[in-house]
Amino acid sequence: MRIAIGGFLHESHSFAPVATGWKDFAEPGGWPAPQRPATLLDNLRATGVPAAGAIDAAERSGLRIAPLSWAFANPAGPVTAEAFERVAAWIVSDLTAAMAEGPLDGIYLDLHGAMVAEEFPDAEGELLRRLRAVAGPDMPITCSLDPHCNLTAAMVERADALSPFRTYPHVDMKQAGARALKLLVERIRRGKPFARAYRQVDFWLPITSQCTLVPPMSEVYAERERIATRHGVSELAFCFGFPYADFPGCGMAIAAYAADQAAADAAADEFLALLNRRERDFAGEILPADRAVAEAMKVNATRPVVMADTQDNPGGGGHGDTTGLLAELVRQGARHAVVGSINDAESAAACHRAGEGATVSLRLGGKSDGAPLEVTARVLRLSNGRFTCTGAMAGGNPADLGPSALIAIGGVRVIVTSRKMQAYDLALFRHIGVEPAQEKIVVVKSSVHFRADFQPIAERVLVVAAPGPVVADPATLPFRNLRPGLRLRPGANQSWG
Ligand SMILES: [Zn+2]
Repeated sequence: MRIAIGGFLHESHSFAPVATGWKDFAEPGGWPAPQRPATLLDNLRATGVPAAGAIDAAERSGLRIAPLSWAFANPAGPVTAEAFERVAAWIVSDLTAAMAEGPLDGIYLDLHGAMVAEEFPDAEGELLRRLRAVAGPDMPITCSLDPHCNLTAAMVERADALSPFRTYPHVDMKQAGARALKLLVERIRRGKPFARAYRQVDFWLPITSQCTLVPPMSEVYAERERIATRHGVSELAFCFGFPYADFPGCGMAIAAYAADQAAADAAADEFLALLNRRERDFAGEILPADRAVAEAMKVNATRPVVMADTQDNPGGGGHGDTTGLLAELVRQGARHAVVGSINDAESAAACHRAGEGATVSLRLGGKSDGAPLEVTARVLRLSNGRFTCTGAMAGGNPADLGPSALIAIGGVRVIVTSRKMQAYDLALFRHIGVEPAQEKIVVVKSSVHFRADFQPIAERVLVVAAPGPVVADPATLPFRNLRPGLRLRPGANQSWG
């Protein structure tokens, strides 16, 4: 059996201020660089990306692999036409070449599923359309997905099976890649497509209510498993949707794949009914920055209070440079506090020019929203921003944040980097000499992913709403293109359109 493996991953925030261009794919801080067919296997095999799980599963099964291209960029605004066309053209031409070299039995793709390209709001639907045009209607195609994807009708129609991660924080990316590869082999052996059932869910799920470590989501996933088993489906794909996307196909959705239509329909309908029953349980508590800082400073414990600066989460399309929560820590005189991190290449360069031990005046962060913080700071330590992640989610992945510095503003220290990274890994702090477990207050630019690494060391976790584009409440976004009937938050009376 000979199968092709490639990937194209982006999570696009329709309202984020900075578009995603080719450079963001060429230099994806914290993730593997783009791969062409000649390098894909060797360079991805040891990483934590879904394609690595698929490569491993394929090699263990003795399959021959025809590598395609693979590219990832960190979440931000929609992907420019130039970047989308460049990577899509690579994958299409690689597939054409692979098929010319010899018979191909199937295709596995490592997709995120929430990519919005300037000219194609459902970018994965468009990519799959182009690949189908080359591969033909009978070619088995399966994909792994991030559950933050917008699972659209076009994606379900054009791929044979789609399998998202089951965890958020995402600690099972490789398992999802392996699962999609197994589904591909199952589909090839079957000789005909799976029966499919696709259902959209009519409310947005806020990011902070999606964590699978705590109820209600932990319970929903346990029930998903029971429903899938009861109906004997090959896959019951559950996707939260990405609540910062704005096109008619986006939102929470389910796809069931089974040997017969009745089983697929029954599993999808039963799971949809469960989500609708639990809708009101998905609202969560979020504190404004001033109250959160006051509350964190009151805690007297040996372990830190971890504060999630969720609305500037680089993993959700934030620029990672807003200063609202930092300003509040400084204003209230917090001590033994550390902020990870502020993405500001200019300030990082100024620190490197000044050197360790120097005092610098900075207009820190706030480049994306025009609200930098004027500070006088001491440069405690410099780094080249390169380290290897160690956590459950990204362990083994190389990070390259460019020239970086640890600075002190009174009792508050800040890690300043030249590229953004969501704070989902303790190595972001440790690489520059900070041990988060020994702090009083640790600020992370993250919504949920930080919990895998930081919840075990935290006395308390506070989710904070400081200014930023990754709004905690989807109902506050200026949507223009959603499908009618989609409720903007769980339990809302008002729907869009
Ligand atoms: Zn995700």
